[in-house]
Amino acid sequence: MKPPPFDYEAPETLDAAIALLGGDEDAKALAGGQSLVPLLSLRLTYPSLLVDLRRIPGLDGIEQTDGSLVIGAMTRQRAAELDDRVRESCPLLGKALTHVAHPQIRSRGTVGGSIAHADPASELPATMLALGGKARIAGPGGNREVDAEALFTGLLTTALEPGELITAIELPTPPANAGSACVEVTRRRGDYAQAGCVALVELEDGSVADSAVAFFGIADRPVRAPEVERAIAGLGPAEAAHEAADAATRTIEPGSDPELSDDYRLHLVGVVVRRAVEQAAKEAK
Ligand code: FAD
Repeated sequence: MKPPPFDYEAPETLDAAIALLGGDEDAKALAGGQSLVPLLSLRLTYPSLLVDLRRIPGLDGIEQTDGSLVIGAMTRQRAAELDDRVRESCPLLGKALTHVAHPQIRSRGTVGGSIAHADPASELPATMLALGGKARIAGPGGNREVDAEALFTGLLTTALEPGELITAIELPTPPANAGSACVEVTRRRGDYAQAGCVALVELEDGSVADSAVAFFGIADRPVRAPEVERAIAGLGPAEAAHEAADAATRTIEPGSDPELSDDYRLHLVGVVVRRAVEQAAKEAK
């Protein structure tokens, strides 16, 4: 189908973009267009104005600070995936990115667009949650930061106020000895996940000393699993993987899905967390 009619602006400053978005409640930011354009073509959204962010300087690029990676919102997903700093200091992000759609889509899609779109089956929001990241936001009221825990508020919904833009995401880099994994079940490679899990595991004397576990594709937003993290503390890798599945299926309540039975969805939750903890623990030094 053809998109509905809309106006188009490509401002050259962040302030101009914020003014355009803040001045029209039906305006939408356009980043890589890999979610927005299909939604337009399917006539699932009717923006009056698209504000293209690609000409605004300073919104892309990766910066490594002491203890974190700051990724500009307009950084293409593929550029982040191939970045040496990401591979070395935050391998979980690189692993998660390889599961996002296909290289062609990642070459256009942006990191900030994926976070702002807040698809519950997306890998990046769950990764941000597991890493304890935050979004840097600019808007008509000035700049602010929002933790991942507070950012994702529901299906395709974030805590962004009208006129606000994500300018970057900040991800604390995990300790160098932590292992990580991103595991998902999809119908076909590159599809959105039916259920997915990201895990970070640190071992001490062969037992889990610390962990972070988050799910995607199982509810209306990414889900952190503190019960799983507590349940595997102090266990050896094999026992931790087994217990992670047990704790997850006891404590996580996946939302219903018209295409999957509740039992099967819960089964997938156990499968992805067991594999993710197993792989992360194997990689932990
Ligand atoms: P756009 O499509 O341009 O924008 C998406 C939304 O975010 C819009 O509402 C827009 O207004 C808003 N927005 C964008 N940038 C900002 C910003 N900086 N501040 C505030 N709001 C902003 N994604 C996955 O995670 N996993 C998958 O498996 C996956 N599979 C896909 C398969 C196909 C066939 C396609 C077409 C896409 C798939 N995607 C998948 C989506 C892809 O990752 C998108 O790139 C991403 O969701 C949106 O990024 P974008 O830069 O394209 O944003």
